Amino acid sequence: TVGAVAVDKYGIIASATSTGGLNNKKDGRIGDTPLIGCGTWADNETCGVSGTGNGEFFIRFGIVQDVATRMKYLGENVVDAAVNVVEDMKKVGGEAGVIAVDKYGNFAMPYNSLGMYRGYIRVAEGIPHTFIFDDELNLI
Ligand code: ASP
Repeated sequence: TVGAVAVDKYGIIASATSTGGLNNKKDGRIGDTPLIGCGTWADNETCGVSGTGNGEFFIRFGIVQDVATRMKYLGENVVDAAVNVVEDMKKVGGEAGVIAVDKYGNFAMPYNSLGMYRGYIRVAEGIPHTFIFDDELNLI
């Protein structure tokens, strides 16, 4: 999966997710990635989210929208909401990772799978600064 979430200086949030799906998937399988609320979500009130992992779990539990729902109705911040969703998914046996960004640029990139490469770009004074992390959050 390649996922991206962006917020501009006006607080407008956008999210996108692309995947080849799972290995040995059945013909005609549609995973979570193209389903809004399952693998991809964005609203300007809460956050944008992109997910990777077992699509069937993402679909069954509406995983990425759940991050936004926790923020909206439970008052969780984007970090707590993303971490809680990924931990909840582990409890039911799903491997998952999400990236989530709120309108202020706060972000979280938790996962419960073996690994997930993550990174972010912050544009300051028109200059993009890129940070890419390995699984242990070492800059690479
Ligand atoms: N979530 C995708 C799927 O189930 C797999 C992935 O993470 O790329 O189709």
